[in-house]
Amino acid sequence: MGDDPRLDVDSLQSVTNSSVASVRSLLPLCRRVSPARSAGAWLLALAAACASVSAAAQSGTCEGAERIRLRTPVTLEAEELAALRRMPPLRVTSVGAPPLSVYDEKTGSYRGIANDLLCFITAQTGLRHEYVPALESTVAQKIQLVQEGQLDVFAPLSFLPERERQGLFTLPFYDSYYVVIARKGRRLAIASTADLAQYRVGLVDGVALQPVLGNIVPPGRMVNFKEIVTHDGLFEALRDDRIDVAVFNRDFFAEQRFRHELFDLEVVHTLREYPRRYRFYFSRSPQHQRVAAVFDRYLAVADTTLSLQAHEDGERQFIERYVRQRSQRTLLQGASVVAALLALASYLALRKYRALVRRLAQSHERILQQQQALQAANAELEQLSHTDALTRLANRRRLDEALAREHGRWQRTASPLSLLMIDLDHFKRVNDHYGHATGDDYLRAVAQVLARAAARPTDVAARYGGEEFVCLLPDTAPQEAAAVATRIHVGVAALALPNAHARPPFLTVSIGVATLAGGTHDAQDLLEAADAQLYAAKSGGRDQIRSVTLDDTDFG
Ligand code: GH3
Ligand code: MG
Ligand code: MG
Repeated sequence: MGDDPRLDVDSLQSVTNSSVASVRSLLPLCRRVSPARSAGAWLLALAAACASVSAAAQSGTCEGAERIRLRTPVTLEAEELAALRRMPPLRVTSVGAPPLSVYDEKTGSYRGIANDLLCFITAQTGLRHEYVPALESTVAQKIQLVQEGQLDVFAPLSFLPERERQGLFTLPFYDSYYVVIARKGRRLAIASTADLAQYRVGLVDGVALQPVLGNIVPPGRMVNFKEIVTHDGLFEALRDDRIDVAVFNRDFFAEQRFRHELFDLEVVHTLREYPRRYRFYFSRSPQHQRVAAVFDRYLAVADTTLSLQAHEDGERQFIERYVRQRSQRTLLQGASVVAALLALASYLALRKYRALVRRLAQSHERILQQQQALQAANAELEQLSHTDALTRLANRRRLDEALAREHGRWQRTASPLSLLMIDLDHFKRVNDHYGHATGDDYLRAVAQVLARAAARPTDVAARYGGEEFVCLLPDTAPQEAAAVATRIHVGVAALALPNAHARPPFLTVSIGVATLAGGTHDAQDLLEAADAQLYAAKSGGRDQIRSVTLDDTDFG
């Protein structure tokens, strides 16, 4: 067993994966050492590489020395102290095995009970020490380096007779045991190591107990693991029911349990027949013989209670983590509440906004309707302001506007502009005989005749006043104007509205027609000319049409 270093390592191999990366920068030479080389060449190369970087890898903090007490004082001869002080620094190696030794990334060194003791004893004696961070090598390789004298001390290491043959052990400073670990609630019939034979047993590859278990557990039921807590590790296999039990160091498990929250696992049996007693392990040399003896004098009376309290920190780390997570949860809950309140506020604001938008749309719609009503009313007013209330024809105002406009156009285009002036004959007699209301009816009936006769879009039929009407006919030559006048004359006659005291005894009209054909005339000239023709018609016996065309010769 002692010939194969892989079998010599114990459960300290729980080791160092997490720590490796952080010290890589210190180990450019160590890293270049290829694991493929032969064992001897590898060791030489590693020793050389590590020696070359040892100055950079100082032992780090030694505050932990204060945690060690001596039950009784230790006194050394001055000569002995002088010899110790003359010694070169002890080259120390270690592994991750809480609470004895854990790699500390901050200091680039190890901390733990073993380190506190080492610091204490070296401080007391004037010895010096430095850690050689051969992190990429296995535990077995490190032990071998010590055994070959390439390194001076391995701390901590459990006792095995074959190890003692190749190195020097000090007195123990920490006792532990192997334990059997299973999932909680599993009822396993384990009262002794022999009972493990019936179970699938997992253990870390290379532990000192491996050969012992190899004699008890059938090969098919023994499963070796390189890792402890990773996915492929020992404890995950236990959780996944790939093994029934795990055999592991009691105190290291206690630490890992809190560090990695393995609370579904528990110790079901302690293998008391295989105690683990951890010590310092020196390479064999007369000098180290003396140093180990000095160590023993201190270890015999050392009280590590305070150191133990300081380094059993798996539980403390767990509680700190829990408290941190709890404050994060509280923060998260607070944030959730704030988010919910914000969401509620946004929802309410959105609702209010939508209601406002709805109300705005409604009032916009109302305003639109009111605008339309107003426009309609305006249009009606406009219409009314140009309309004669009795006959619904254009009124005098509209006629005046139209006449001014059309006269202007006549001046520009010289297109003939005609105007008819119509007066009801003996209308007074209608009123007198039939009453004013009938007179109004007659006026309305005549108005309709006018509207039908002067029906072009540009024609304007207007009530000029009383029982007088005017038709303005743009673009209308004398003959066409005469034709319109005839339509009115005939149309009124066709109404056959009785006028008993007139001759004939029906309503008739007299019409004066004037046309602007050329020359220089204002609008008033046209009106007056038509009026003159109307007068002529009246004078000529009524019920007739008289026409005139205005140009310079005629007017003159
Ligand atoms: P002439 O043939 O010479 O035109 O005789 P006339 O009776 O028609 O003429 P006159 O000017 O003497 O009388 C016009 C009458 O028209 C007088 C007036 O009472 C009547 N009149 C004017 N405006 C209205 C109206 O709006 N309604 C009614 N019913 N009669 C009206
Ligand atoms: Mg009249
Ligand atoms: Mg009249």
